[in-house]
Amino acid sequence: MNFFSADKKALHDQYEQLRRQKNALNFKFDSIDFDKRTGKAGKLRVSLERCTCGEFWKRRKPCKHMYRLATDLGLFELDAEKIEVALKNTPHHNLYGCEFSIRALPPKNFVVVDFEKANLLSDSICQVGLVVVKNNRVTEKKSFLIRPPYKNFSATKIHGIKFSEVKNKPNFKSAWSKLIKYFHDQTIAAFALPHDLRYLFATLDRYKLPHPKFKAFDVQANVYTCLKNEPAFEGANHLPLATVAEKFGLEHDAHDALSDAFVTAQIQIHLSKNFPQENSTIYYSNAAAVAEGFVDNEISTEVVVDYCKRLLKNKNSLDYVRFLRKIKQAESKRGIFREKSDPLERIL
Ligand SMILES: [Zn+2]
Repeated sequence: MNFFSADKKALHDQYEQLRRQKNALNFKFDSIDFDKRTGKAGKLRVSLERCTCGEFWKRRKPCKHMYRLATDLGLFELDAEKIEVALKNTPHHNLYGCEFSIRALPPKNFVVVDFEKANLLSDSICQVGLVVVKNNRVTEKKSFLIRPPYKNFSATKIHGIKFSEVKNKPNFKSAWSKLIKYFHDQTIAAFALPHDLRYLFATLDRYKLPHPKFKAFDVQANVYTCLKNEPAFEGANHLPLATVAEKFGLEHDAHDALSDAFVTAQIQIHLSKNFPQENSTIYYSNAAAVAEGFVDNEISTEVVVDYCKRLLKNKNSLDYVRFLRKIKQAESKRGIFREKSDPLERIL
């Protein structure tokens, strides 16, 4: 597929694609074959149809190398200023796939989740590890093997799970009926949360399953917030779980989803007990969760007004209306009806 034909304009206007165009500004080829419309840079082989980089293999959409090639061939325009403006005006979900965040005290009840994947693709989950923590104590540990929609198990060298071990296991869609209670209406914790959320949402989308409503926080970020002044934890916002576990002296079978989740739970319990005043950031999975957080008074009016303004600035008026409807629903479920004179009623 030639990604740079005239009918593909909408693709290049997507937020993720704009980010790749921005990255393409600083990329240079070693050589370009203008007749064959291909480019070389080190081991990379780039054409208008494909690229040998991992990014293209994963996403099957133009990567920064392809944008650079198209531009160098005169088929595309990369304008740094225009890209910046477009990035600002294009609605998107943040890195977490979550819609909003607040600063809060770390919760005592949460579910730690960890996913292992068969390969680089986000929707190739092959193991789910779950550890339930209630009142800062581990009350349940569960591990599920999942048959991903791929036979490519290039990540076996990382976690040791082979296709033969999961080929008779349920796929994610069948397993979800057992998993959903650990997510829906829960507070989720993960070490390096953005990755696990990306895998979860990609897999749910693949099977056309609706996203559950939950709150989530990142234990890796909490380690950094609480311990950044300790010399042993310098740069802890990037330390891998295995390193942090070792510093904590915890027994750990790295890249077994259950062991990863259990170790993460122990680290968070330690942080919750020893640094109870340190804020952690809570992310809400979707508009329904934001609305309920607001009705439960965890999110202040100012924050919601700010959120509404942002939705409108992004010309996302449909999302705006949807979000307001969610707030109304959540409120009426709790028997809350605002007076016409209530300042919020003017926004709602
Ligand atoms: Zn590429």
